[in-house]
Amino acid sequence: MRWSKTYIPTLREVPSEAELISHQLLLRAGFIRKLAAGVYIYLPLMQRVIKKFSDIVRDEMDKSGALEITMPVLHPAEIWQESNRYETAGKELMKLKDRHQHDLVLGPTHEEIVTFLLRGELRSYKQLPINLYQIQVKFRDEIRPRFGLMRGREFIMKDAYTFDADDESFAIAYKKMVDAYFAIFKKAGLDTKKVESDTGAMGGKAAHEFMLIVDTAGGEEVILFCDKCDYAANVEKATFRETNLPETDSEMKATEDVATPNAGTIEEVTDFLKIKAHRLVKTLIYLADGKPVAAMVRGDRELNMTKLTNQVGAVELELAPAEVVEEVTGCPVGYAGPIGMAQEIPLIVDNEVTRIKNFVVGANKNEVHTINVNLDRDFKATKIGDIINAPVGEQCPNCDGILHAKKGIEVGNTFMLGTKYSESLNATFTDTDGNEKPFLMGSYGIGITRTPQAAIERFHDEKGIQWPKNIAPFLVEIIPLNYAKDEHKEAAERLYNELTSNGIDCLLDDRTERAGVKFNDADLIGVPIQLIIGDKSLQQGKIEVKNRQTGEKSLFDINNMTEEVTKLLGQIN
Ligand code: ATP
Ligand code: MG
Repeated sequence: MRWSKTYIPTLREVPSEAELISHQLLLRAGFIRKLAAGVYIYLPLMQRVIKKFSDIVRDEMDKSGALEITMPVLHPAEIWQESNRYETAGKELMKLKDRHQHDLVLGPTHEEIVTFLLRGELRSYKQLPINLYQIQVKFRDEIRPRFGLMRGREFIMKDAYTFDADDESFAIAYKKMVDAYFAIFKKAGLDTKKVESDTGAMGGKAAHEFMLIVDTAGGEEVILFCDKCDYAANVEKATFRETNLPETDSEMKATEDVATPNAGTIEEVTDFLKIKAHRLVKTLIYLADGKPVAAMVRGDRELNMTKLTNQVGAVELELAPAEVVEEVTGCPVGYAGPIGMAQEIPLIVDNEVTRIKNFVVGANKNEVHTINVNLDRDFKATKIGDIINAPVGEQCPNCDGILHAKKGIEVGNTFMLGTKYSESLNATFTDTDGNEKPFLMGSYGIGITRTPQAAIERFHDEKGIQWPKNIAPFLVEIIPLNYAKDEHKEAAERLYNELTSNGIDCLLDDRTERAGVKFNDADLIGVPIQLIIGDKSLQQGKIEVKNRQTGEKSLFDINNMTEEVTKLLGQIN
């Protein structure tokens, strides 16, 4: 491709709307433009990246035996009502009506549709197992569409669905997908980690996420790793063993209300009362599907909304607004506690709180705390369980190793759905014993548009993108310093024709721009190999080569370019 014949609108300024470096680079390097919040236009370079990544995905999915199909984006609401997700998928569903006032949904995922398909078609165990996949646009009314392609309202996903007759066959199907995912991300130049995750609104038995570890702001997910065994889990899911038991008292003391003027935060209260943070137990008020619930965790711990959602069996959980907190507690925000709330609401207490005697809680009175509080003696819990983020430094749930945390981007996931959808949608087959059974299902997603941006978040420098070769828009960029000059033009054209005819994807910068502009643009768009044509090297019969991933420069013999470039391509990521 020639620069003059394609459309690469690079920008010099850093777009102010983009927070993440990867988002800034996609805009600056002319890969995407925004149409609306979370809705993007993919320009020619992005289109090439999407195609290259999709081809890798397709290739590995096909190799694993999965069959490509295309399901509609437009779904009748009825099928979503039947599975009950019209309600439970909540506000993320993009809903619309047709001219006859029929309710429709723009597909956010396709478990319902694929189950609808097979329940009418597959009748016998003899037709199983089957794995169907598609690469297609998805719509989700994300609460916070942001970070460019990372969290769009319209995005492209590869989604696959397996149907099996028994656990053994399902285990094989699941492993095949996990293996395919490792192969896909490896080919794309991305070293991903498989971590345990919460099954969330998707339902089912177990789930894993494929994470690209990054140390930039793009790492939205926190992952806990064991330093000894291979335990790795998303913080939403990660558990731990309580080994560092906190200091506490041996005898219960009498409760007492203490005025804590001007002390609202954990730090202010613990300073004022001269206690350690773990002895101050926070009471947090949430709305679980619109109904208030209280949750109690140690002052030095973070509440885990996913775990709390699971404990109360809710679909949606949000922090209660101030008015609700005031109504429930009968006092201003900041002094909620389990004793004497204005309203009686469910109280979920974290496991760790049960280990402390004589802790401090809010008194449900303005600027007052109650000290020497004890669970069961002074108040009762509706439920006791793990509702905190596994703390770094605590022990691994599986061995005596220690947990540490890293940030990552979820690029794909795999769900063991079990019979959740086949039961709710009544999709059964006749098994070997003649009995009707619901299919065992799995569902598997990869973010086709998120993954390339994640790759940029991982591979970039101050000048621009450093694409891994297999998802780069081009493998080689040819940069004649002065295209108006015959020798440069001639050498550039010859090189372009030679490499292209040998199947090496080239971009030729045939603009009559200044060399500096071309260099900056080349570094910005991040094609892995730059071939620079200038007087000095040409006179020696050489072409200057720059490896964009490492910055290393060398000289290749002009008569041996295909071989040299192929060799270098074999050496880089
Ligand atoms: P997240 O926790 O990030 O919201 P999810 O659990 O909703 O992801 P899935 O429904 O399983 O994700 O989607 C499969 C894959 O699609 C994800 O691993 C991710 O790569 C991608 N993906 C999900 N939501 C978005 C989005 N809003 N924009 C772009 N890609 C997305
Ligand atoms: Mg989501």
